Amino acid sequence: MAFHTKEEQQSNQIAVHTDLNHKSLLQSYELYQYILETNVYPREHQCLKELRQLTAKHPWSLMAIPADEGQLLSMLVKLIGAQNTMEIGVYTGYSLLATALALPHDGKILAMDVNREDYELGLPIIEKAGVAHKIDFREGPALPLLDQLIQDENNKGAYDFVFVDADKDNYLNYHKRLIELVRVGGLIGYDNTLWYGSVAAPPNAPLMDMEHIKHYRPFVLELNKALAIDPRIEICQLPVGDGITICRRIS
Ligand code: SAM
Ligand code: CA
Repeated sequence: MAFHTKEEQQSNQIAVHTDLNHKSLLQSYELYQYILETNVYPREHQCLKELRQLTAKHPWSLMAIPADEGQLLSMLVKLIGAQNTMEIGVYTGYSLLATALALPHDGKILAMDVNREDYELGLPIIEKAGVAHKIDFREGPALPLLDQLIQDENNKGAYDFVFVDADKDNYLNYHKRLIELVRVGGLIGYDNTLWYGSVAAPPNAPLMDMEHIKHYRPFVLELNKALAIDPRIEICQLPVGDGITICRRIS
């Protein structure tokens, strides 16, 4: 796809963002493929590749994070030397496996999802990768579980890294709890914070008519505003995948 004028580029971008299967907010499909084929796929763990290919056949495959985002999560986990981590929103487990592979042998992930079936689809591949022992999967809504965790003083500041990729209308509720559970210097990554580009799309953009986009957009906007002014964290929003906001707890 070649872009010429600014107008053409803008209208093409809207088209790209409307195609919800497109896993990036970059200016062209070719540029994104270049990144994947040059830097990501050749380095992707064989089991991650298998899980990605298995997930691609699932009707909700769009929900999985893309491989370049998996690479980012892995890098973050290693950079901070994370040991004790949490994931909210597992689906078939691509981000979970990327995190598990990045953790040391005795690292831990508390993984939550309302749906065990999808997790079990990917589980044989996670087992084959030799990292299933790091995962404590809990079936059920995340919020009550976080409330339960927070009751125990020992859990406060006990997590090094948290990845949130579930119900967008609860992200702020999660943040209120996670900020206490993550240690100072630890990270929380919130996924989909650019919400397919809708956070800054014109009201007449085709994606603004999509029910799913329309429904969650106000929650994503509210989250972004709240994170931007939260003095307890430093933040960095990256246009990787559908946008990820990395929050580092500073107080
Ligand atoms: N991170 C996953 C990956 O890389 O494949 C994708 C997660 S998918 C976008 C969102 C998941 O959140 C779904 O599997 C869904 O069942 C789960 N979910 C939705 N509401 C939830 C809730 N209240 N508590 C926990 N999980 C929830
Ligand atoms: Ca996501």
